[in-house]
Amino acid sequence: MLNIVLFGPPGAGKGTQSQKIIDHYNLTHIATGDLFRKHMGEGTELGNQAKQYMDAGQLVPDDLVIGMVDHELNESNNTDGPPRGGIIFDGFPRTIPQARALDDFLESKGTSITCMIALEVPDKELKKRILERGKVSGRSDDQEEEKIDIRLMVYRKTTLPVADYYKKQGKFSSVNGVGSIEDIFERIKTEIEKFI
Ligand code: AMP
Repeated sequence: MLNIVLFGPPGAGKGTQSQKIIDHYNLTHIATGDLFRKHMGEGTELGNQAKQYMDAGQLVPDDLVIGMVDHELNESNNTDGPPRGGIIFDGFPRTIPQARALDDFLESKGTSITCMIALEVPDKELKKRILERGKVSGRSDDQEEEKIDIRLMVYRKTTLPVADYYKKQGKFSSVNGVGSIEDIFERIKTEIEKFI
């Protein structure tokens, strides 16, 4: 199994690169932001609970995130489709307790994270990209500069330590996330290949 954590701040290009990695390595996609937006769109209890945090640019509490990911992982095991070669985690884990919960879950299934690949993009470029995306995505958290600043601050304070968690396990690698989509994908593939 190839289990990848694609890491980086909001606007780093995780969603775009995830799609390319999924196609290349035949992986299942677990993107917690997308899953929350789906719940919100369907008006589920979980969606309603997550909405206030997402709208404010804050992280959704760990118990809600971990419960949702556990559920998705069990579901992805039970689908009838052709078996996949592993999982790519996009926007998860974003806190140390989430990283620990993920390790425990994968261990219980006899597998583990292969590597974390981090996309490095300067803050100025991130803000520009998020505001551009906001024009078409309709995401409320992509519209205002103030909210984007909060998200970048939360990333630095709470999420960045997750990189150290994987560094300690010898599973961390980073790539320059500025350039063409294809060039960045080539950089990511080169790093992934070092772990398999
Ligand atoms: P994203 O689409 O990954 O940028 O996520 C959008 C928003 O969803 C974030 O700003 C958080 O409010 C929430 N979210 C997504 N993933 C997580 C996570 N792993 N932990 C906590 N909150 C999350």
